[in-house]
Amino acid sequence: MGSITETRQFDIPKLCKAGVVVNEGPDFQVEVQMVPVPEPGPDDILVRLKFTGLCSSDIHLMQGDLGMPPMSTFGVRSPGHEGAGIVVKVGANVKNFKLGDRAGVKPIVDTCGTCSLCLVDKETYCKAAIHSGLMTAGTYQQYLVSPARYASPIPDGIPDEVAAPIMCSASTIYRSLVESNLRAGSWVVFPGGGGGVGIQGVQLAKAMGMRPIVVDTGASKRELSLKMGAEAFVDFVETDDSAKAVIEIADGVGAHGVFVTAPAAYKTAVSFIGNRVGSMIMCIGLPPAGTMILGTDPCEFIFKNLTIKGTLVGSRSDTAAALDYAKRGMLHQICEVYPINRLPEGVEKLRKGQVAGRIVVNFDWEE
Ligand SMILES: [Zn+2]
Ligand SMILES: [Zn+2]
Repeated sequence: MGSITETRQFDIPKLCKAGVVVNEGPDFQVEVQMVPVPEPGPDDILVRLKFTGLCSSDIHLMQGDLGMPPMSTFGVRSPGHEGAGIVVKVGANVKNFKLGDRAGVKPIVDTCGTCSLCLVDKETYCKAAIHSGLMTAGTYQQYLVSPARYASPIPDGIPDEVAAPIMCSASTIYRSLVESNLRAGSWVVFPGGGGGVGIQGVQLAKAMGMRPIVVDTGASKRELSLKMGAEAFVDFVETDDSAKAVIEIADGVGAHGVFVTAPAAYKTAVSFIGNRVGSMIMCIGLPPAGTMILGTDPCEFIFKNLTIKGTLVGSRSDTAAALDYAKRGMLHQICEVYPINRLPEGVEKLRKGQVAGRIVVNFDWEE
């Protein structure tokens, strides 16, 4: 093993490309700049990313509207929390990765590993969790250091452009689908679900035997939703009453599950359950802090046995499970690939809500 490691040294540059936020806050912009390549510590790996996904949370982090301390508090200028690449340097203590292995970086790069939450697969809630792209440089930066224990191995057979958005979007919605406890055959609605997390949800729900319905607008989101397994697409601009349309599709009764990935959809989330008893409303998309209240008449909870529940991002085991769906061919490419130099344009498009599925940026393609 030693000899293999020694013969596969990688040339590591001093500087690498990174999408960097300037003017952090409501009027932020992103520029591609050259930044220093970080040095891994003894327990870390250095990953050369091939792809990073662009996630709506990145926009909120750059805007600084999530009620968290801004990125600059931590000296971080590059957001991003879903990246896939290869290991180009390993720290002296690292045993679970070797040079040339494929690795993914997730929304959380490390946890304490020993608290009661870490021990029961609630590690993403660990008080010591380190959030990538907020507390440490994110996946908009090509060369990234990650604690080896928390990085995700990427199995062969999954293209990097598919693996990258699994790190946040697919594993996040996988967690929510699992925690919803909904069974095969359940009608599940994704309001505003034409974006990255929603489309991954459609694919995974379908794979789990559920019956996805997407409520969103526009031809590209309609096409992608149906292609990825939605049984129906309700265009909320063309339809007078989206909830009524969904209830009609869901056997005239209503949805068993509502997965809110787009914050604006919290306003109407309860309406999709109709008269379904025992339905679940799952909160996933992060609204700007203090802008949204979700709830309804307590009678709805009582007479309909309604549950409203939230889930955060996926844990290591959620990510491994989502990667396994991809390996089995059940998660497809949902992204448009941009060259690194067009990352700012991709961010702008995402900020305007114009992205169907995901934009994934290729660091090796400059254009
Ligand atoms: Zn994300
Ligand atoms: Zn912990």
